[in-house]
Amino acid sequence: MPDFVVIATWPFGRTAVKKAATLLQDGKPALDAALAGAQAVEDDPKVHSVGFAGLGNAIGTVQLDACVMDGQTLACGGVAGLENVRHAAAVARRVMEKTPHVLLVGQGAQQFALQQGFPLETLHTPESIAEWEKVRPANRQRELPGAEEDHDTVTVLALDRKGSLGGVCTTSGLAHKLPGRVGDSPLIGSGLYVDNTAGAAGGTGVGEEIVRIGGSLLIVEAMRAGKSPQEACEMAVRKVNAVAVRRGVHPARVAFLALDAKGRIGAACTERTNFEYAVARPGSVELLKAKEIGVQAK
Ligand code: ASP
Repeated sequence: MPDFVVIATWPFGRTAVKKAATLLQDGKPALDAALAGAQAVEDDPKVHSVGFAGLGNAIGTVQLDACVMDGQTLACGGVAGLENVRHAAAVARRVMEKTPHVLLVGQGAQQFALQQGFPLETLHTPESIAEWEKVRPANRQRELPGAEEDHDTVTVLALDRKGSLGGVCTTSGLAHKLPGRVGDSPLIGSGLYVDNTAGAAGGTGVGEEIVRIGGSLLIVEAMRAGKSPQEACEMAVRKVNAVAVRRGVHPARVAFLALDAKGRIGAACTERTNFEYAVARPGSVELLKAKEIGVQAK
């Protein structure tokens, strides 16, 4: 029987894995732990790319995307373009549990959240408004799509003490995105996919490039076919690179991470992404740097 493992994207993933580890330590299910971890990041006003204090879209409205998936049953749910509700991942879980659907968007997602008892609140803080102003396209030179400072998702993948996998993905998406733009993060198979019989995978970075290759499902199916989590993540990044070359563009910043039911982990990213991820196991929390895969890599 594997002991628990939980991994999460970016340095703020430390907040997520520490919280999730306390639940996993007590034998709680992977999805409960991943959700509690993701919610701790949604609540952090210093994180401007997830939940409360996330950066607004082109007209300054914060629109959140999130999804959840249970590896035992393949139950899943998501919300996209959710406004004025900070716990987008918890709403996604209610979509999974309380409706026959998988994805609710915009006003419908917000009405559902209200019916489920989630409070409406402003997600702006003075700091998030100042940051939104600072990263406004008009106020800076963009060298690549998805500059480092204006996005990042917390994607949390957990393996519990019973050997079951669960995952959660939650974000405010790309700052200054078009109103109504939906990224990879609420889309099952793109930003997240979890299946106990193969593994769990999640993404972060420019969502359009993750959607274009169906990133997370691609990784999980590669693990099913025998690749390790690390090999599967590297394969997906090579595919992002190859697609960028075919399209005649520079590969955007994209990163993947994966975890299998044996507790093996993997992570990889496109070049210049500087992707770090947090890992917690019983008694340890680490921040690791993912392998960068350049366009030339075979
Ligand atoms: N994947 C997210 C999106 O495109 C952003 C990120 O993870 O950096 O909305």
